[in-house]
Amino acid sequence: MSTPFLNTPNLPFCKGCGHDLIAKSTAQALEKIGLNPLDVIMVTDIGCHGIIDKTLNTHTVHGLHGRSVALGAGVSFAMENTDKKVIVFLGDGGSTIGLQHIIEASRMNLNLTIVIHNNMLYGMTGGQTSGLTPTGFRTTTAMEGNPFSAHDICKLTHTAGAAYVTRILGIGNIADKLAEAYSVKGCSVVEVVEICPSYGVKFNPKRKLSEIMESMGHTEGVWTNDRLAYTYPNSTKMNDLLAKLPVIEQKHTGGLDKHYQLVMTGSAGEGVQVASAILARAALSSGYQVTQKGSYPVTVGVGFSTSEVNISPEAIHYHGMASPDAILVTSLDGLNHQMKRINAMKDGLLLIDSSLEVPTTGAKVVSHDFRIAGPKNAALYSLLMFAKITGLVKRDAIIDALNDMGLGEKIPVEKIEGLLNS
Ligand code: SF4
Repeated sequence: MSTPFLNTPNLPFCKGCGHDLIAKSTAQALEKIGLNPLDVIMVTDIGCHGIIDKTLNTHTVHGLHGRSVALGAGVSFAMENTDKKVIVFLGDGGSTIGLQHIIEASRMNLNLTIVIHNNMLYGMTGGQTSGLTPTGFRTTTAMEGNPFSAHDICKLTHTAGAAYVTRILGIGNIADKLAEAYSVKGCSVVEVVEICPSYGVKFNPKRKLSEIMESMGHTEGVWTNDRLAYTYPNSTKMNDLLAKLPVIEQKHTGGLDKHYQLVMTGSAGEGVQVASAILARAALSSGYQVTQKGSYPVTVGVGFSTSEVNISPEAIHYHGMASPDAILVTSLDGLNHQMKRINAMKDGLLLIDSSLEVPTTGAKVVSHDFRIAGPKNAALYSLLMFAKITGLVKRDAIIDALNDMGLGEKIPVEKIEGLLNS
């Protein structure tokens, strides 16, 4: 049965995985304490527990490698409304990698709950030892049994100053215990000791969870510090920081009456990110809502460069992009990066550099030599052609945006427009 917090009862974990109990009990606990899904910001981390994101009806943020607590801290710092709830999920692997973040959140007593899914090994990557693996517990990297003792994460966080710390054995009904932790104002840390059937049970058959926990000298329990949650002084609230950003006034009108999804893609150095930023600004100055998301390899200066821009007359609640209305391609790197999407287009518009073979697509195709204006200007050239064909954003809005961004001197707009009109 689905709950207000989970959109499916079939969670994406292996059969018998303790993460299933934590997720379902969390859903029950949040409902019990009277929260609505959109009152909750769930921040997840690397590891099997993190694949829960798509089943949640809450806000979600996906973090990496133990940094989820830092992300949750950022959300908590920025929160104006302390009735909203920030919950950070991470595993024992992520807790080991990001231990400092957990300690700092506890020390500062940030207003969030950290739920450590402690199945005593790295599940997602094949069952390796973590910093919370008990002595003698067998893992793929310690087949004779872990020779080291586990961190006592409850002791560490309680000593650091978290308002509420609890250790729970991940068996039976744990919703009430979670509800208590989720109700705390300040930093609450929950360690749920559970088991990974795929590796933990396989390498440690016949061992009981309670016996394993006791072998560490750990017990279930609750430990508290009588402290108030940390709050930013009013003068540095996030809204004040946002208020310092310049407002982009509406100076233009465009021809858009519905949400439009555009992808610009090419190679590093072709100005894809700059051109999409110009488009985003032009669209804002035309009275639209906009999101822009860049994507490129960590090896800066080589490989593909892609930018996704959502433009809508209405508020945009989701900045992802399922099926673009238009894709602008200026190089082979960009084509390869977006090939699947281009192949999947049933309609819409594909602007593609004429040096490239036109791939299979249901989109209307316009093939043109965008690189003739110089590789650095290829993306902007494709953008100006897109604007001319669709009328979605006016030429003047693009030129204004370009000038407002201080690029007027650097980009040979007249040359590009000459080419466009030739
Ligand atoms: S590998 Fe282990 S931790 Fe991961 S989903 Fe399967 S049982 Fe759970």
